[in-house]
Amino acid sequence: MISFNEPCITGKEESFILASMLSKKISGDGEFTKKCHNWFERVLKCNKALLTTSCTHALEMAAILLDIEEGDEIIMPSFTFVSTANAFVLRGAKIVFVDVRKDTMNIDESKIESAITNKTKAIVPVHYAGVPCEMDAIMEIANRYGLFVVEDAAQGMMSTYKGKPLGTIGHLGAFSFHETKNYTSAGEGGLLIVNDERFTIRAEIIREKGTDRSLFFRGMVDKYSWVDLGSSYLMNDISAAYLWGQLNHAQTINEDRLSSWSRYFNGLKLLEDTGFLDMPSIPEGCSHNAHMFYIKVKDINVRTSLIDYLKKNEVLSVFHYVPLHSSTAGVRFSRFEGKDEFTTTQSERLIRLPMYYGLTKDDVDYVIRKIHDFFTCEITNE
Ligand SMILES: *Cc1c(COP(=O)(O)O)cnc(C)c1O
Repeated sequence: MISFNEPCITGKEESFILASMLSKKISGDGEFTKKCHNWFERVLKCNKALLTTSCTHALEMAAILLDIEEGDEIIMPSFTFVSTANAFVLRGAKIVFVDVRKDTMNIDESKIESAITNKTKAIVPVHYAGVPCEMDAIMEIANRYGLFVVEDAAQGMMSTYKGKPLGTIGHLGAFSFHETKNYTSAGEGGLLIVNDERFTIRAEIIREKGTDRSLFFRGMVDKYSWVDLGSSYLMNDISAAYLWGQLNHAQTINEDRLSSWSRYFNGLKLLEDTGFLDMPSIPEGCSHNAHMFYIKVKDINVRTSLIDYLKKNEVLSVFHYVPLHSSTAGVRFSRFEGKDEFTTTQSERLIRLPMYYGLTKDDVDYVIRKIHDFFTCEITNE
């Protein structure tokens, strides 16, 4: 059976985890957390990187930092993971969804402006599949209306928009190190990037249960106490040690995934040219990280048969997301502004193929062959 995902392991994790254990400082902000923070601040060229327990929690921190209150409105795509919305709903916000673009499945930047009201506080672009949103247009709208931008870059580590790493363009950026993402900590983990320096100190306080503990450790206050809202958002150091085993190999991991991605792309091109499926497109000026390889088939029925067919042939493929505005909680907490032209129809066509670090060329070729076989059978049966 070819798995859909296998968590990334480089082989370096074990020795770093042991080193962390032996250091006897395994809670948050230990030696490995500091190494990771420095790496992000150097490689992403960002002002402040803070490891968190998950991307969900990094997004929750963002909502607290922006002082989101009851009735505020947050603009985002409906084609995303629940945490993008939940983080703001937890603070009483109403979610305003706008349609996605057909080519990238990212928020359609041209639909944002008409969704803005006097209650709008922030825009949350989601870089789907690690492919960048049109950040210049989004930042221009945000600046003109005085709105904040929180990038949901959960899938976007190592991708760039016009040379800038994702997550470093908006006021805040959130990343995930869940086992399904390109780089992982010990199963769950995340990162908040603070680009707007006004938020730096408060972000550290919120992450440390609302205390000024990190200022205390830097000798900036002589005792630490409760100063603000907050929760426990620190990643433990053993988890950071696991992640450190991967950041050292970030380029190798990225290249390995990109080569599988290109192999799929070239191997399935003929099926796109003959109209059986659509493939992802990468806008000009953007680089991506091969977080996923997806194809879009004719409709939901073809999708169901293809997933079944691949499963019978020992290949696991999956689909996602059920658009949030049509879910039970979505009906309660959100509205869809404008027409849902692509979100629902395009999400029903989408299938994700096996993609992980270490996926072999033979396995990719096998999946490609089976997809060709499926469409050949389909023609024969008609
Ligand atoms: C994975 C993911 C998240 C959540 O990340 P966790 O680290 O699991 O909390 C949020 N948004 C998007 C777009 C994701 O893909």
